[in-house]
Amino acid sequence: MSATAESVSWHERARRLEFRTQAFIDGRYLDAASGATFDCINPATGKLLARVAAGDGEDINRAVISARAAFRKGGWSQQPPAKRKKVLLRLAELIREHAEELALLETLDVGKPISDSLKVDIPAAARCVQWYAEAIDKVYDQIAPTGPEALALITREPLGVVGAIVPWNFPLLMAAWKFAPVLAGGNSFVLKPSEKSPLTALKVAELAIQAGVPPGVFNVVPGLGPTAGKALALHMDVDCIAFTGSTATGRAIMQFAGQSNLKRVSLECGGKSPNIVLADYPNLDKAATAAAWAIFFNQGEMCSAGSRLLLQEGIKDAVLEKVHAIGRSLAPGDPLDPATRLGAIVDETQMKRVLSYIDAGRDAGASIRFGGRRVREDSGGYFIEPTVFEGVKPAMAIAREEIFGPVLSAITFKTVDEAIEIANDVIYGLAAAVWTRDVTTAHRVARALRAGTVYVNCYDADDITVPFGGFKQSGIGRDKSLHALEKYTELKTTWIDLTAE
Ligand code: NAD
Repeated sequence: MSATAESVSWHERARRLEFRTQAFIDGRYLDAASGATFDCINPATGKLLARVAAGDGEDINRAVISARAAFRKGGWSQQPPAKRKKVLLRLAELIREHAEELALLETLDVGKPISDSLKVDIPAAARCVQWYAEAIDKVYDQIAPTGPEALALITREPLGVVGAIVPWNFPLLMAAWKFAPVLAGGNSFVLKPSEKSPLTALKVAELAIQAGVPPGVFNVVPGLGPTAGKALALHMDVDCIAFTGSTATGRAIMQFAGQSNLKRVSLECGGKSPNIVLADYPNLDKAATAAAWAIFFNQGEMCSAGSRLLLQEGIKDAVLEKVHAIGRSLAPGDPLDPATRLGAIVDETQMKRVLSYIDAGRDAGASIRFGGRRVREDSGGYFIEPTVFEGVKPAMAIAREEIFGPVLSAITFKTVDEAIEIANDVIYGLAAAVWTRDVTTAHRVARALRAGTVYVNCYDADDITVPFGGFKQSGIGRDKSLHALEKYTELKTTWIDLTAE
């Protein structure tokens, strides 16, 4: 089938697609208590996709009450891990069985290319659920080395009700990074997806019930951040908020926890990640290709995007020429065409924000090496071409602030120490990379970089087995790997006296 015929078929499927638009509470779909809705817009066309229930404090409260009741009842929380494993393995399977539908929902909702939704987002979400399912009956508790007169058990218990608030850039995957370890650990769950991308979460709630998750254990309340999100973060009976989103909202979430019940808070926030290429690296083509994908993949809407390219003097032109060649081949296109590699920006607000940063870069004196414009305006959608600034100074806003679009800031440096200083001199610390052939330099730079993940001679290498999260204002806590389970369990010491009566 040609690319065109394939895209026609995705358009046809999109026309036949049914959307889940109600909140999912206590195992069933419900309108918002207020009856309010918000518009879900297709960013590739600017047209209305669906009207989705706009949950607020009352809906959040209903979901939390249901989650707490389910937790107390024990139909999930008190099950042996092997039983939860079986249900979650079935959920992973159902996500795979519904991969095309979920991928289509994701693409229509946020504008990412269908090939990425299908090959990256949905399989990664399924793998995440499968991995925590398989892990949970292999995790042991501990006995402390107290001596013969006591037996001190160190055990982990589920927290209770975990709320999650997630963003729109990888809607289902970011939700899965939360719900897979949360459910595996025996907790009940209330999810507030982004108002820009509620559709896959609402569909997966139904799959969770189908897989055997008891009603009340998995709830989804769509709604706006300042109403539904805030109500969840302020709720007195939520034990933990697992948040992914911007650093500004992360700060508010911490305050809400402090103002309410000191619920545990984990934050996966923004980034402005440095990608350092040293002149000794022998394969500049490889480094440049990775640098281009590090910023253009997912339209640059990546928390870990390599948005600052730090190039040692002398290699700038060689690297930027190759980045340009890749950028040229990535003209934004129809997200439903499987040949498209760069889709639409998630909405008009985000598009305007990215364009305003492009203006700010120009005004500050940086020069646009290529790109810089809105394109495909006739489609009614929100598309921006791959853009690279050169001559960027570390003090400029485009070198310090998260743009969250396909905009790369290239900065040159002389020495390795100067590169480390520039790399660390921002409020963020999510990811970083260094390219060098020298093993000592690689280790020295990797240690010096203040980031939760450091890539050496690669960028955005990824696996569910490794923790992901930020230093500094990029967040607190880690998603993925066995470490994520720590966030959703309480540590208990049980001291048993063994001395004779
Ligand atoms: P955002 O902070 O605007 O929104 C994130 C979520 O918070 C949404 O569900 C939103 O409705 C909710 N929210 C907004 N205001 C709120 C409030 N006052 N109270 C409670 N909830 C509120 O972020 P976004 O634009 O959706 O996502 C982009 C951001 O997410 C970027 O900064 C990106 O770096 C970050 N992100 C981080 C990671 C990571 O793992 N570190 C992963 C993906 C995205």
